Amino acid sequence: MRTSTFLKWKLRQGAFITRALASTNHVVLAHIIPMRRCNLACGYCNEYDHNSKPVPLEIMKRRIDKLAELHTSIVTISGGEPMMHPQLDDIIRHIRSHGMIAGLISNGYYFTPERIKRLNEAGLDSLQISIDNVEPDEVSRKSLRVLDKKLRYLAEHADFHININSVIGGGIKNPEDALTVAKRAVELGFSTTVGVIHDEDGLLKPLGEKEKQIFHQVKKLGNKDHARLNWFQDHIAEGKPYEWRCRSGARYLYICEDGLVHWCSQQRGYPGTPLEDYTMEDFHREYKTEEWCAPTCTIQCVHQVGILDNWRDPQMTPVQIRKEQKKKEKERVGDVLRAE
Ligand code: SF4
Ligand code: SF4
Repeated sequence: MRTSTFLKWKLRQGAFITRALASTNHVVLAHIIPMRRCNLACGYCNEYDHNSKPVPLEIMKRRIDKLAELHTSIVTISGGEPMMHPQLDDIIRHIRSHGMIAGLISNGYYFTPERIKRLNEAGLDSLQISIDNVEPDEVSRKSLRVLDKKLRYLAEHADFHININSVIGGGIKNPEDALTVAKRAVELGFSTTVGVIHDEDGLLKPLGEKEKQIFHQVKKLGNKDHARLNWFQDHIAEGKPYEWRCRSGARYLYICEDGLVHWCSQQRGYPGTPLEDYTMEDFHREYKTEEWCAPTCTIQCVHQVGILDNWRDPQMTPVQIRKEQKKKEKERVGDVLRAE
């Protein structure tokens, strides 16, 4: 990444954090899925298939327009494997045309020098690749040995921010691989983070002693900003629940390939409202709703968004929210009757 682009990236990051702290009335981060299909089949993953079609560009553009209407700061394209979408560059351009930050999460397999240059031209701001092990095995082929050449291409040609995420837990055989991956990422000039892999419900898998040691070593090597933001992981690594306020459905949105809004990739189905019909009323309801799955949640990006509002606006359970809605409805009816 060129120094000038790096400085611009830092300034834009600073601007969206300031804006997010100043007002709670907009979406901070949306994950959007342009296709569910993936070229791999990682053993712990519940987010892919092998046959779905790409979402047509015009539909993707309408969804992005709606996210811009909700004053979204960052739109991250995820999957499946989004690099398989034939019009990915146009999707990125459309995000940037609204002034939003464009991110991409990929398994890294499709990067060539020519493809990276096209992503530069489209205006991609940031890329995250998760690498699970050094040698491919039956759980994952997102492996350093397979991807190292792609990482070298990225180090040489990419003009966007790159983060390499290594993982611990979830059936990954050699926890020390996470350290090897993180060291290689730093060597190539990328930032690095470590994630605890969730179970099939997106929830906590307690780490063993060896895994915990490696986890802390990798965290030390990593991006200082992320380490500061990810202190919830220390609780998760110890198998302890963490108290925080998940703002999914409001400050964070997950938009599936069918264009429905979900809490996150691991809690698909709720609220399940089409994005085109999503209103600020939905936003405010979800902002106030306490998610039952929060104390053991391992999803880093939603935790980071949550930090912006953890100190304000306590949440309520869905039952309390329904009671409050009924009370307001009664008050409205009372007002109408009194006026008559
Ligand atoms: S590469 Fe990503 S989307 Fe594809 S199977 Fe693996 S974890 Fe799932
Ligand atoms: S706490 Fe939020 S991000 Fe985590 S699993 Fe639940 S809904 Fe998803």
